[in-house]
Amino acid sequence: MSDIALLPSVTTFFRRDHGMFIDGRHIPSTSSNKIGVINPANGETLAHVSDASDSDIDDAVVSANQGFKVWSRTSPAARAAALFKLADLMEKHREELAQIETCQSGKIIQISRAFEVDQAAHFLRYYAGWATKITGETITPSLPSFTGERYSAYTLREPIGVVVGIVPWNFSTMIAIWKLASALTTGCSIIIKPSEFTPLTILRIAELAIEAGVPAGVLNVVTGTGRVGKALIEHPGTDKVSFTGSVPTGIAVGKGAMEAKLTRATLELGGKNSVGFLRDIDLDKAADGIIEAGFLHSGQICAAAERFFVHRSQIESVMDKLSLRLRALKIGSPLDETTQFGPVTNKQHQQKLAGFFATARAEKSTIVHGGNIPDGPGCFVEPTIILANSVNDTLLNEETFGPIATFLPYDTEDELLHLMNSTPYGLSASLWTNDLSKAMRLIPEIEAGTVWVNMHTMLDPAVPFGGIKASGIGREFGAAFIDDYTELKSVMIRY
Ligand code: NAD
Repeated sequence: MSDIALLPSVTTFFRRDHGMFIDGRHIPSTSSNKIGVINPANGETLAHVSDASDSDIDDAVVSANQGFKVWSRTSPAARAAALFKLADLMEKHREELAQIETCQSGKIIQISRAFEVDQAAHFLRYYAGWATKITGETITPSLPSFTGERYSAYTLREPIGVVVGIVPWNFSTMIAIWKLASALTTGCSIIIKPSEFTPLTILRIAELAIEAGVPAGVLNVVTGTGRVGKALIEHPGTDKVSFTGSVPTGIAVGKGAMEAKLTRATLELGGKNSVGFLRDIDLDKAADGIIEAGFLHSGQICAAAERFFVHRSQIESVMDKLSLRLRALKIGSPLDETTQFGPVTNKQHQQKLAGFFATARAEKSTIVHGGNIPDGPGCFVEPTIILANSVNDTLLNEETFGPIATFLPYDTEDELLHLMNSTPYGLSASLWTNDLSKAMRLIPEIEAGTVWVNMHTMLDPAVPFGGIKASGIGREFGAAFIDDYTELKSVMIRY
């Protein structure tokens, strides 16, 4: 098979002079600094975006405050209707959005279609449904009554204001949708700062939002580096940051937000997620499970697993079966519909992964499969299996965010639990077993925001998602996001 042809609308979009999306339209940036957006499959420059100036940032904040005034007074049903329409428009432009996303991120086209567009639209509709269901509560106070007076109280959930949504490069469309959906459902306005590596798809979606009836100023997109994100968070005209990204940046963002003006912060950070296979598991299912847990989108998923613990008597068989599967993966161009494994998203990340291979070799871990960077202009990295010497090996402790599965054998279930929890992070984990009662007893012992049984990585909008320990603060999805995007106002009445 060969690459699919790019739609004319996609090639035209790449050629545009991309500015900021402020006040419902694209406006030229006042900055002369440009950032090249590189196709990681071949190293070619797709487009240029602007690195926002201070005046671009000010303009976006003014616009978002005006947008907030309008949107927070818009009825919940009208807010929901606009978001439902946006989901429809995303589906109408499915192929265009998926192609833009694949070209900028290297994500295989099937994943761009199924997750970045279809799943993102599904999440958007789920959130939109909440707009009409956000409520407070009524309370009867117990204050003393001296002259027959009585009291009543109730709470209101009010939108927090202008949200800054900071997005990473791995799922640049879906994560941007999570943020804009959370904000717009609750009546907030939002300024999205996409990753400098993958800023394009959300610039196109912002146009669709206007077509869907989202008023000007409610969704602004400001492109640029981390400097731009920091300036937005610390700007006196913003009220909350919703950040998704790495742990070190997340800690800096959290500190900056607190110090600036107690800006509210939701931090969805990285992890070092564990998988534990109990002895009763079918070994072929285990090998399939590792592909799902560790190698989807070349391992560039925050919830993906990187640490795999298998009983000592089974570890060699599991690694053999996994090697066979990795050898059979079709690696190639992400625009070829038969490709199963594409490049990583940028050169810096490819180099970082090369550094992890060097560390594994220096520490004398066993590289069972892969462990190399193929020649060529694309950012390809071999899918890799590593057998660690001990739980202290770097590859079992630092997030690689790449297609690297590191294994360690265990002997007893107590040891398995200890190994699974021996990380400062706690985003996700999975247990694989046919013994339900054992699983039910182990689940409460596992330190992670999400625990899967016989599955890994799959997220559903109805199921809250977020990290414990150093993997973050706050939750997305379910009803849990509402607390993070609203302030609780208490009202007391004497009568
Ligand atoms: P990153 O932390 O380098 O960057 C994330 C975003 O923050 C980018 O838009 C970047 O420009 C911006 N940024 C950088 N410095 C900033 C600053 N000082 N202030 C404000 N913004 C700043 O992360 P990345 O490399 O783009 O993404 C990969 C990381 O994201 C991985 O660690 C992964 O685990 C994590 N991630 C977490 C989740 C989750 O839901 N928990 C989801 C996806 C990715």
